[in-house]
Amino acid sequence: MEFRYLGNSGLQISEITYGNWLTHGSQVENDVATACVHAALEAGITTFDTADVYANGRAEEVLGAALKGRRRESLEIFTKVYWPIGPAPLGRNDTGLSRKHMMEAIDGSLRRLGTDYVDLYQAHRYDSFTPLEETMQAFADIVRAGKALYIGVSEWTAEQIRQAHTMARQLGISLISNQPQYSMLWRVIEPEVVPTCRELGLSQIVWSPMAQGVLSGKYLRGQPPPAGSRATDEKGGANFIKRFMTDDVLTRVQQLQPIAAELGLNTAQLAIAWVLQNDNVAAALVGASRPEQVTENVKAAGVQIPEELLARVDQVLGDAVTSDAALVARSTPPKRLL
Ligand code: NDP
Repeated sequence: MEFRYLGNSGLQISEITYGNWLTHGSQVENDVATACVHAALEAGITTFDTADVYANGRAEEVLGAALKGRRRESLEIFTKVYWPIGPAPLGRNDTGLSRKHMMEAIDGSLRRLGTDYVDLYQAHRYDSFTPLEETMQAFADIVRAGKALYIGVSEWTAEQIRQAHTMARQLGISLISNQPQYSMLWRVIEPEVVPTCRELGLSQIVWSPMAQGVLSGKYLRGQPPPAGSRATDEKGGANFIKRFMTDDVLTRVQQLQPIAAELGLNTAQLAIAWVLQNDNVAAALVGASRPEQVTENVKAAGVQIPEELLARVDQVLGDAVTSDAALVARSTPPKRLL
């Protein structure tokens, strides 16, 4: 495993980080989830990402149980706050980045994870209904209470990051990361978010680097998805992955195989290595529904892709690539619940 500094902080994280969205507490049984976490640890992954909203808190519980007994100092545990978590009925303040919701949410996350602190506490989306000053003050108080060491955001625009960074400095806390979607197919952070973060000293921790499994090449045009894959998960995964399940994308992805083979990789590993070529990316945030996937995926660590092969990737994917900066934060939902 290779390690990178997160932003301009002294915190090092594994450049392949394990995340448990849609898997722990939902798609896979708890014993499989635990086996995935243990495979990650064996492969040298030390950094784990979750969120309170994943499987309504169950993903945090499963991750906490799987990490139980490990030396806390040897791990970097990240979680997030923003969305309400069930069960219903929910109150007006069970959502967003108000001081009230953040103070309550961090305690819930720590309880479920079975830890006294998280290494990184992230705002899962921007809350346009709460003054940013209130959110940043709440973050500062959470850090001063020792419940989080660093703070980050997820899917914020360049301008939102800049404002938050200024306030964080004034409050004496470290805003060191953004967590956006980024892959060979989804490059919307490149025009604005990445240059701003480079300037301010934040890193990207990028989600869905394999486009949720599509970039592994296992989905074939005109054929049903493999049994047990995310595209068959009607409870949630199938809906999230469908953006990439077009004939055009699936056909182009097959053409990545010879490029991956030149590097001695499979296409899943090529996809992970590709995001890590960007020096503003501190980690590829990779999911897995089986331990073998984690073991395979970590072979992408430390790979250098020559310029010539990067250019061939661009040629193959052509206009299947989305790069429109206006699509950052496209999914920010309304905060109001009631
Ligand atoms: P990926 O693009 O890494 O997709 C992971 C999925 O791809 C796996 O669950 C598995 O699904 C499939 N897969 C993994 N490895 C292989 C392989 N070698 N061969 C074939 N298929 C493979 O990322 P995710 O979409 O899972 O996101 C990763 C993490 O990012 C999340 O867990 C979460 O921590 C974070 N995230 C953050 C968001 C945010 O808003 N901040 C939003 C979404 C994710 P299967 O086997 O079921 O097909």
